[in-house]
Order: sequence, then structure tokens, then C-alpha cells
Amino acid sequence: MRIELIDDSEGLTQPPDDPRSAAAPPLGEDPNAMPAAIPRVSAELSELPGIPDDIETLDAESLLALVLRTLGRDRVALATSFGAEDMVILDMLSRLEPRPRVLTLDTARLHEETYDVMDAARRRYGVEIEVYFPQTEPIERMVRAKGLNLMYESIENRRECCGLRKVEPLARALKTVDGWITGLRRDQIVTRSETPKLGIDQAHGGIWKVAPLADWTTEQVWDYVRSHEVPYNALHDKGFPSIGCAPCTRAIQPGEDPRAGRWWWEQPDHRECGLHLDPVSGRLVPIRDRDTSEAVGPEASSF
Ligand code: SF4
Repeated sequence: MRIELIDDSEGLTQPPDDPRSAAAPPLGEDPNAMPAAIPRVSAELSELPGIPDDIETLDAESLLALVLRTLGRDRVALATSFGAEDMVILDMLSRLEPRPRVLTLDTARLHEETYDVMDAARRRYGVEIEVYFPQTEPIERMVRAKGLNLMYESIENRRECCGLRKVEPLARALKTVDGWITGLRRDQIVTRSETPKLGIDQAHGGIWKVAPLADWTTEQVWDYVRSHEVPYNALHDKGFPSIGCAPCTRAIQPGEDPRAGRWWWEQPDHRECGLHLDPVSGRLVPIRDRDTSEAVGPEASSF
């Protein structure tokens, strides 16, 4: 069945307002531990040598190479939910850098198939996956008060669950980098139609946000997956265009909106993600327009 792929997105609250000043932990160390401080990237990224004016014309591999070269391996990571786009990027990254940093969130509500592809990625690419878990105590308090399936009862409950299981861990993870790579594509949904290939993520302290597949189509993604024999989540073959937490993701029928498989019990305008939004404008600011703060459109999550 041909399905439209989209990244996993959650309608979320804004992450904590934490200043970023931390570096990546060395491989083999606890990725949740507070890393040593390194200079954070300044707001003058586009002034750095090696950032071309025609960044939008770069193909995916060239953009990834540029980002790795500019930020350095330890300061940029793929943030992945192990969807097909993320796996394409991981395949590309591993050809450019033998030990790319890979971040993911384990919300403790994921599908078994997601853990399977996570392990397949580890085996195939030899990467250490930095898994970030929610903080235990707030989750325990929430579940004791509202139950494990609180998300079905109200938008507020769902956002509380996403906030504890996703927003906080992602914010914590992104403190360790100066740039993150996502699998966002412009043709996934209209709100992503102006996703820049390289932007500034104001919601996470002004770090780089890189979308190397921004101008790719679904067909290109699957052509790459098949031609490079990239491992992918088995749920994609079962009608899941978007794979997030098990309670909040379902298969869709042919012709259905790809978003129909996420938070299907909510109104569509409540399904937007807050993870990647500018906390002020609610939009993502592209790197070239950051001085004018010209907004280019809301973004959604890779998770
Ligand atoms: S289980 Fe649902 S509500 Fe909770 S974090 Fe996952 S997607 Fe969000």
C-alpha cells in the first residue's frame, strides 16, 4: 500500500526555557548526564565562513557534510524517531561520519516495532543511540492521578503526557548539541511547506535545525530506502505513515490524510506540534532571515 510518510509530531507545550551551554558527552557515557560546557554557537551563524548563500540548493548529502564540517561531530545530532526519513538521513550520515550522534526519545509508550528498528539501526550502522527517557517522578505522579491513558480524556491531558514524555526529554537532549537534524519534508503537510533546509530553532536556544530532506518526495525517500537497503520500521508496511507512541498512532486507510493516524480523537487544529516553534512568533525562523525575525511557517516534530 502506498502511503504518505510524515514525521511523528506531537501537539505540545513549549520546552523549559533553559539556556544552552553544554557539549555532547563522549560515547560510552551516560547521555543523560550533564555534559561539560563548551562555547555555544553564537547568533551569527550565517557569518561563519563556509555557509553558502545558496544553502537551499544543496542536496541532502552536501548539506549534512557542511553541517558536520561546520559544527563538528560532537555538536550536531540526528534526532530520530526511526521513521523512514530519519533512517535515510542516518544512512547518509554514517557514510560521512563513522560515529554520527543519534538522539532519540523513549517515551515508554513506543511500539515494539520501533524498538526493533532501533536495534536494527545499531547493528547496521554501529552507532550508539543516545536514548533519553522521561523523568520518573513526574510521570509517576501523572499516572497515579490520571491513569496511563489520560491522553484520550482531554487535550490538556494529552499535552501533559507529551510534555513529560517528549518535550522535557527533547529539551534536555538538545542542550548537548548546537544543531539537530530532522526528517521534516515540505510535502508532508501544509504547515511544513516552507521548511528551510537550515534554520534557527528559537524554541531550543537558537541552535541549528537542519532538514536535509526538506525538498524530497515520499517516492524519493522510499527509492533511497530500497536502493540502499536501509532498515525501516515494519509498521510502515502496515499502513502507518507516521509512527509515534502506540496509544496515539494508528494505521490509516488508502486515501486517508496521513495525519489521520495521529491523535485521531482530537480536532485537526489541535494536532499541531509545539516542539519546534519559536516561543514568541510560534514559527520557525530561517537562518537567512533571523535578523529580521521573518517567520516562514510553523514546524512539526521528528518525534
Ligand atoms: S503516549 Fe501519546 S500523549 Fe503520551 S507522549 Fe506519547 S504521543 Fe504524547
